[in-house]
Amino acid sequence: MKNQNVLVIGSGVAGMEASLILADAGMKVHLVEKDSLIGGQTIKFEEVYPNMECATCMLAPKQQEVLQHENITLYLLSQVKKTEGSAGEFKVQIEKKARYVSLINCIGCGACYDPCPVSLDNEFEQGMSQKKAIAVACPGALPNVPAIDADNCLRLNGKKKGCNACEQACGFGAIDFTEKDETINLEVGAIIVATGFDQFDVSGLAQFGYGKHPNVYTAMEFERLYAQNGPTEGKLTLREERPIKSAGIIHCIGRKEKGYCSGVCCMYSMKFAHFIKDKAPEAEIHEFHTDLCIPGKSHQRFYEELSKKIDFIRYEDVEVKGNNGNLEIIYTHSNGKRDSIKSDMVILSPAMIPSKGTKDLAKVLGISQDSMGFFSTQDQNLSPIDSEKEGIFIIGCAEGPKDIPDSVSQAEAAAGRILSLLQ
Ligand SMILES: Cc1cc2nc3c(=O)[nH]c(=O)nc-3n(C[C@H](O)[C@H](O)[C@H](O)COP(=O)(O)OP(=O)(O)OC[C@H]3O[C@@H](n4cnc5c(N)ncnc54)[C@H](O)[C@@H]3O)c2cc1C
Repeated sequence: MKNQNVLVIGSGVAGMEASLILADAGMKVHLVEKDSLIGGQTIKFEEVYPNMECATCMLAPKQQEVLQHENITLYLLSQVKKTEGSAGEFKVQIEKKARYVSLINCIGCGACYDPCPVSLDNEFEQGMSQKKAIAVACPGALPNVPAIDADNCLRLNGKKKGCNACEQACGFGAIDFTEKDETINLEVGAIIVATGFDQFDVSGLAQFGYGKHPNVYTAMEFERLYAQNGPTEGKLTLREERPIKSAGIIHCIGRKEKGYCSGVCCMYSMKFAHFIKDKAPEAEIHEFHTDLCIPGKSHQRFYEELSKKIDFIRYEDVEVKGNNGNLEIIYTHSNGKRDSIKSDMVILSPAMIPSKGTKDLAKVLGISQDSMGFFSTQDQNLSPIDSEKEGIFIIGCAEGPKDIPDSVSQAEAAAGRILSLLQ
C-alpha cells in the first residue's frame, strides 16, 4: 500500500479545506504553516463578497476542526526545508521554530502582554497598531495562544538576559524560554502546496502618494480598518479620527507592472464601497478602474446594485496629490479628458503576487514557477492543479490570484486526486 500520509503546506482557506477532506477520509495530514496562527489572509477580513458573509463565522468552525482533528498534525512557525523521492514515497524535512509558549498550558488570557517591555509594529495589522514581543496577531486568532518573537524579546536576543516579565505574569506555567527549534523528518505519499499570495508593494509607485499622505490606504489596511477585531475595532475613521465624507478606490494598481489582472480586486474594491456606505451612508464614493472584472452569476448583480449608489470611472491614468491632509485624485478618462476630484480617503487595490518564499519553496520541491512567479501547473485547461512532478499539487492563490470559492474548489479537487492516487 502507498504511504497514506499527506503534507499540506499553508493553512489558508485552501490548505485547511484540503486537509479536512483528506483527514475525514482517514488519511494522516501534516499541515505546515509558517505563521503562528492558521487561516491565511481570509481571517483578516470582516466580511466576504459577494454575499457579505461574516468571515469569522465562516472560518472559525473550519479552524477549530483543523486544530482538533485527530488525523491532522499541525506544525506552526514551520517551513519545509528539504524534499526527496517521488509520488507515493516523498521524504520531507521541516524546520519548526520555537514558540516559547505552551499550546497545552496557555489558556489565552493575555495576562502576559502588558508586562512585556517591548512594543513593535503589528504586521498582521499592517503596522496600524502595536503589539508586544509576546502576542497573538489579533483578538480571535486561532490557536488563541501567543508566540514570543525571539528576535525582539529582550531575554531571547540577549539584551536583558534576566527579563521574565511574561513568565511572572503567567499563572499557568505556559512560558518556556528553554524551548528549542526542531527539525522534523516525515514520509508522505503526496504534497499539496497552498502557500497563497502577498500584495504588490505600492510604496514604489510615487504617483499614488502611499506613505506620504496618511489617508492613502492599501486594500489590506482597509480590510483591517473595517474589521471589528482590527486596530480601530471596526470604527471607520481617517487617521486623524475625522469621519469619512468621501473616498476614492483605485483598482488595477500594479497591473501594468505585473502584466496580469488579479481578477479579484474589482470585487473586493466594490466590497469596500459597500462597507463605507454601511458605516457612512452619506459618503461620496468613486471607484476608478481600467477594465472591470466582474464574472460569475452573483457578482454582476452585486455591481448593478452598487452602481446605483456610487460612481464608476474608467481611467487611463491616475495620480493622488495631497495638500494639508486633503487629497485630490487627478485622472484621465478613457476618452482622454483630464479631471480631478477631492477625496478624504484613497484606497489602493494592488495586484496579488506570489507569496514571499515561493522561489525557495519551488527549489526545495523541485518544481518550477510560471512567468508571473506563481507555481507552474502542467496545463491550465486540463491539469490546472498538477505541478510538473507527479504527487505534488498546487492549489488556491499559490497557483495564481483567485477568490475563496475558486481556492476551495481547487482544494477539493486536489483532495480527490490524492485519494485516487494513494488509496
Ligand atoms: C484585500 C483583499 C480582499 C479579498 N476579499 C475577498 C472576498 O471578499 N471574497 C473572496 O472570495 N475572496 C477575497 N479575496 C481573495 C482571498 O483572500 C483569497 O482567495 C484567499 O485568501 C486564498 O486562500 P489561499 O489559502 O490560497 O491563500 P492565503 O489566504 O494567502 O493562505 C496561505 C497560507 O500559507 C501560508 N504560507 C505561505 N508561505 C508558506 C510557506 N513557505 N510555508 C508554510 N506556510 C506558508 C501563509 O502564512 C498563509 O497562512 C480578497 C483578497 C484581497 C487581497
